[in-house]
Order: sequence, then C-alpha cells, then structure tokens
Amino acid sequence: MILGILGGIGSGKSTVTRMFADLGAKTLDADAIAHELIEREDTKSTLRQWWGDEIISEDGTVDRTKIAERVFSDAEELVRLERLLHPEVRARIEEKISEFKENNEKLVVLDVPLLASSTLRDFCDEILFVNSTEALRETRVKVRGWSPDELKRREAQQVPESDKKILANSIINNSGSLNETRQQVEDLYESLLAIDFTERE
Ligand code: ADP
Repeated sequence: MILGILGGIGSGKSTVTRMFADLGAKTLDADAIAHELIEREDTKSTLRQWWGDEIISEDGTVDRTKIAERVFSDAEELVRLERLLHPEVRARIEEKISEFKENNEKLVVLDVPLLASSTLRDFCDEILFVNSTEALRETRVKVRGWSPDELKRREAQQVPESDKKILANSIINNSGSLNETRQQVEDLYESLLAIDFTERE
C-alpha cells in the first residue's frame, strides 16, 4: 500500500510522515532525495553554469537560500530547476518503491511536496490530506525564517490547497495538539492495513 501525503506548506506533512514511520511504515522524502542530488558534482556544476559561483557557499555546498531566492522570484527558473531535478528524484523514488515491494512492506508513505502536480501520484493507492489553518501554518513556518508573505509566495507556485483536498481520500486535522494528530495517524494506519489485508484475500 502506497500512501501519498498532500497538504499546504507547514501543514504538518513531515510530522505526520514521521508518525507513520514510528508505527513501522517505510517513508520516502522527496525533499531529502532532492537535497542529496543537488550536492552531486554534476548537478552543482550545472547550477554554477546557470547562476554563477555565488550559489556555492564557502564550504563548497550549494547555498540553498540563494537557490530559493532565484526560483521563487522567477517561475521560469523554477521550471528549469524542476526539469533538472525531478526526473532523477522520480527515478530514485521508483527504485525505492520497487525495493519496498520486493520486501513486502505493508505501508510506504510518500512525502513529496509537489505530489499534487506530479506523475508520482499514479503510484499512490491512497492520498491523505493534512489540514491546518492558514494562521497555524504561518506560525509554524516562522521557524524556517519565512514571513507570511514568503509562505504565500511559495504556495502560489503550487497546486492550490482546495485542489489538493479534492485529490485526497482521507484527511487528518493537524490544527490541534501533536497527540491529537498522532491518534488520527494511528487510526488511519490501522484502517489502511485492514484495507490491504482484505484486498489480498
Ligand atoms: P510540512 O512538512 O507540511 O511543511 P512540518 O511537518 O514540517 O510541515 O510542520 C511545520 C512545523 O510545525 C514544524 O516545525 C513542526 O514541528 C510543527 N508542527 C507540526 N504539527 C504540529 C502540531 N500539531 N502542533 C505543534 N507544532 C506542530
């Protein structure tokens, strides 16, 4: 069973994904895969050609703040970066999914921020929407150093929340405490495994 997670920025997708992992699910984090990929020498050299040496920090790693500044202020640059990274990220995710299937893993959770507009959605048996109020999301992304305007700018680049909700088969409300969210995750985990079980019979 492959469960895709959708939700606004700061809604709690990573938090919910971690909760599933605590219950024994395998998880795939597209951001983490993209971060590894961006540090590969061939990727770095392409980025340097596009945007100059200033996007490399003094320690030799890619300065992701600089990259974010570029792509979130220019939609064409975002598309260019996505065209470079997405096929590789997708290939890595496909590879991992096959491995998990071979090992008969019961539940694999895909935390792919752009899942709503990605063909990776086709892999998902179920889609979960993580819901949090806008005010809470604003507060929660402050720790990333993002203002409400920055949040809006980034969200404007994504499929609107209302459309993400329509794609989902289930919703977790993450506007309450972490314990309340954990309880919902546990309930959903149980019911997803039950669906899988009956399907196999
Ligand atoms: P996303 O992956 O959707 O961008 P995160 O899971 O990273 O969102 O959550 C954003 C921030 O809010 C994180 O710092 C996380 O620890 C915090 N957070 C998430 N859910 C809750 C909650 N129910 N109560 C308090 N803080 C939360």
